[in-house]
Amino acid sequence: PDSRTAPSASTPDAAKDALERRGLMLILSSPSGTGKTTIARMLLEEDAMICNSVSCTTRPPRPGEIDGKDYHFVSQDQFDRMAEQGDFLEWAHVFGKSYGTPKAQVKAGLKAGQDYLFDIDWQGTQQLYQKLERDVVRVFLLPPSIDELRRRLTGRGTDSAEVIAARMDRARSEISHWDGYDYVVVNDDIAACFAKVKQILAAERLRRARQTGLIGFVRELMEPGDELG
Ligand code: 5GP
Repeated sequence: PDSRTAPSASTPDAAKDALERRGLMLILSSPSGTGKTTIARMLLEEDAMICNSVSCTTRPPRPGEIDGKDYHFVSQDQFDRMAEQGDFLEWAHVFGKSYGTPKAQVKAGLKAGQDYLFDIDWQGTQQLYQKLERDVVRVFLLPPSIDELRRRLTGRGTDSAEVIAARMDRARSEISHWDGYDYVVVNDDIAACFAKVKQILAAERLRRARQTGLIGFVRELMEPGDELG
């Protein structure tokens, strides 16, 4: 009998598994009204291996938001200094405020096998992809139909036709960038959509290039003198 076993057999728990591979950056983008926030929350609750990437922002906290958990709330001066020092992986102006992804924490986390979830738009996605292509997994969520999107963006029926039309324009403009993504999921059912996002994550975690800890095991499977790729 052969005593050689895969590390996953002897290290079944998720924490050890994480140490054997490089983390990934799962980017979820969608036009607003497509359920992205719900899917993100479900994923963070269910999957202990992935955490939210906490951005810096110059906008004030909303009621209930916690500094260091929802965002790092910083002054414009602090933000500008960080941007100048190259402390952000990417940053952008959104609705007149600055938002950025701090570099140090994410880079160290990825090395240690931590996965990160990003709720950012197509511009932030492009910037992250340019910097860390091998770590990025880009998922775009689509609404099931234009009528359903309109219904979701109509709110409680108190918004004017102009406001709703502006939201629809923004949604269509976001959808026009769907070709900048690796995966597309139509959210016609939240449970089904969530299951598909989890499948994507599971498959991406198994990519050979991320399984950095497997090299020792693969070497053990070879005979001395065998070529290894
Ligand atoms: P909110 O102020 O409502 O939390 O976020 C406003 C917008 O900023 C959202 O579209 C969100 O995706 C975007 N955003 C949040 N953090 C970042 C970030 O670090 N980088 C970029 N590019 N966009 C962000």
